[in-house]
Amino acid sequence: MKSRIYHIFEMFLERIITNSRYKYKNMSNSRFAAVEEATKHHFNVSSAVTSERAIHIFGKNVFTTAKMRDYLPKSTFNDLNTAIDEGNQISREMAEFIAQAMKAWAIENGVSHYTHWFQPLTGSTAEKHDAFFEPDGDGGAIEKFTADALVQQEPDASSFPNGGIRNTFEARGYTAWDPSSPAFIYETAAGKTLCIPTVFVSYTGESLDYKAPLLKAIAAIDKAATEVAQYFDKSIDKVTASLGIEQEYFLVDLALYNARPDLQLTGRTLFGHMSAKGQQLEDHYFGAIPERVLAYMVDLENEALKLGIPLKTRHNEVAPSQFECAPMFEEINLAIDHNQLLMNLMEQVAIRHNFKVLLHEKPYSGVNGSGKHNNWSLITNTGVNLLSPGKTPKNNLMFLTFFVNTIKAVFEHADLLRASIASHSNDHRLGANEAPPAIISIFLGSQLDEILEEVESARVAKKVKADANLWHGIPKIPDLKLDNTDRNRTSPFAFTGNKFEFRAVGSSANSALPMTVLNAIVAAQLIEFKNEVDKQIKKGIKKDLAILNVVRKYIKDSKAIRFEGNGYSEEWEIEAAARGLSNIKSTPKSLDVYVTPESIELFETLGIYNKRESEARHEILLENFFKKLQIEARVIGDVVTSQIAPACIIYQNQLIENVRGLKDLGLGKEAYSSQLNYIERISKHVNIILEKAEEMRQARKKSNTIEDMRERAIAYDEIVKPFFDEIRYNVNKLEKLVDDAKWPLPKLRELLFIH
Ligand code: ADP
Ligand code: MG
Repeated sequence: MKSRIYHIFEMFLERIITNSRYKYKNMSNSRFAAVEEATKHHFNVSSAVTSERAIHIFGKNVFTTAKMRDYLPKSTFNDLNTAIDEGNQISREMAEFIAQAMKAWAIENGVSHYTHWFQPLTGSTAEKHDAFFEPDGDGGAIEKFTADALVQQEPDASSFPNGGIRNTFEARGYTAWDPSSPAFIYETAAGKTLCIPTVFVSYTGESLDYKAPLLKAIAAIDKAATEVAQYFDKSIDKVTASLGIEQEYFLVDLALYNARPDLQLTGRTLFGHMSAKGQQLEDHYFGAIPERVLAYMVDLENEALKLGIPLKTRHNEVAPSQFECAPMFEEINLAIDHNQLLMNLMEQVAIRHNFKVLLHEKPYSGVNGSGKHNNWSLITNTGVNLLSPGKTPKNNLMFLTFFVNTIKAVFEHADLLRASIASHSNDHRLGANEAPPAIISIFLGSQLDEILEEVESARVAKKVKADANLWHGIPKIPDLKLDNTDRNRTSPFAFTGNKFEFRAVGSSANSALPMTVLNAIVAAQLIEFKNEVDKQIKKGIKKDLAILNVVRKYIKDSKAIRFEGNGYSEEWEIEAAARGLSNIKSTPKSLDVYVTPESIELFETLGIYNKRESEARHEILLENFFKKLQIEARVIGDVVTSQIAPACIIYQNQLIENVRGLKDLGLGKEAYSSQLNYIERISKHVNIILEKAEEMRQARKKSNTIEDMRERAIAYDEIVKPFFDEIRYNVNKLEKLVDDAKWPLPKLRELLFIH
């Protein structure tokens, strides 16, 4: 039974809280001001946005092949197409024609500036704008754009990360036109810019971006896959890697976002007690899209379509305020340019709707993070998807060949694939029981798993011994279900009927890196495959049988990578260890594989990275890792000392005053024992967070003295980062103790549920 005194206390406390909340509202606590603003946004949904008919706007702002045809002399147009198809050099003369055509089209569309648009290793895209305008020397001006400006440009790029390749004193990096990705017009409220997709390379020819190595990997897979595909069909002379990227993201109200320094500076909440309702009811995934969010999506789709990004899918995701969009798949270079562009657009359009888009892999601890599923397959010039099971035994052997080679490549190079998705932000997501683990494995689905078992079995071996019976040995592949029900969502790399889906890629990543690695390892595997098959053919074994022999061997060799069970379970970690699969949880150590002699050789042989480029990339990724942690640590320190601790102390003083008052009234200790308890607990947690913030600062200083980049990154990971969780834990305790009206940061329930 509660005592009467206690009851009086409760009433009293409630009055204090109500009063102070009222007071705080009027003093405009920045959090309440933000909540109030966000609530207004919630009710004032922009009704101006309507879905435009895709067929009317698609590609409107792209210098498409069709537009080129209109603006170019016929012969130049034909030569250009051949050059793009065959990857040939584009002559000076041709470039001059194209530059004039592009300029004419752009100026007709109200464009005043142009830029080379490239993807430096910072992870975003970069631009340097130049005006078409040039003084003519006679006091007037002309609009000028030459082949030189189209083909090559020298941005002052000494401040882009280059891993020591380009010393800052000889800061010569240049951008060079990528004719395989069309130029486009990027519109903002401040004007229109002609953007020319380019690669970014150093003066000495080493690549400084994501695109150049990707283009080389695309060439490598084309060559290797075409040679193998010709075993089956001589008319195949080109294989294109295709990619469809599903992009997950969170939306948060802009006003609330601006009241959270951690979101602003690091893209994720570094504190915050999970709201009583999170995603446990799983009601968001199937729920209707809120009107304000829908207006955003429609606006985004209109803008994306104009830029030729074929956005098709939109839906809610599992966590509250989490959504997904996905375009139709495209040729891989284009798909990646489009995804990079889409991420820019998402941010730009969000602001118009008073939203901020969060592309971080883990903005909130306690609900699901975001990924970027990379759906990948190989398609021939004859229109055949090499990863789609065929109807005839011969087509099935072709399918099995590419299917099994991909599995074998992932098995052999799982560590490279793991490294390709490593980042400080993805570390929060991988293995966090909601996303694929850091262990790379492949899910095939029961039907295909059984088929591989059968192909490998002794029974088949017997059947195909006499090669006349070869085709009986290849099991018929039933029509695969393409629906969601048969899917294992816990797998990092899953076969989904006619493509592989690399799900471990982080939502903020540039897919170029994982796709460079995937295409490289499959190319290397196909080259090895062809060598083995050719060797058998030389020995007199019939071609189809030789292929089947090697396929069977690969199925056997790569078994350990196949896993159909629950990838989130603890048992899997144990089993995977027993199978000898790696489980590298942190980024700095997972990156080691980039600079092993085997990896260096692999990339060098395929012409993707030379040794210096591999080493430079390794260093940039490590540097990026520790810098991100460094920023997070600083933000935690600042917010703890300048916002959280002061708010707690103010509330604590109020409690102390209250205790004094009760004492003055002559009441006994039982009248204020709860307050005393609160006062003590607040003291305890405030002391811990201030102490830990200081210890973390020391740890940071110590780590900064380490010269070796790998060692420094590891130090940040192992001696700085553990403070984050400890501080967060204690801050979250305080959040629950302290008067809601005094809490300075928008709470997770506000961030997640006001939209
Ligand atoms: P789900 O969420 O069920 O995985 P979505 O429809 O959201 O599927 O996304 C599937 C993605 O895979 C889309 O971008 C789609 O265009 C792409 N895709 C489909 N077929 C291929 C293919 N052959 N190669 C590459 N991507 C493909
Ligand atoms: Mg998917």
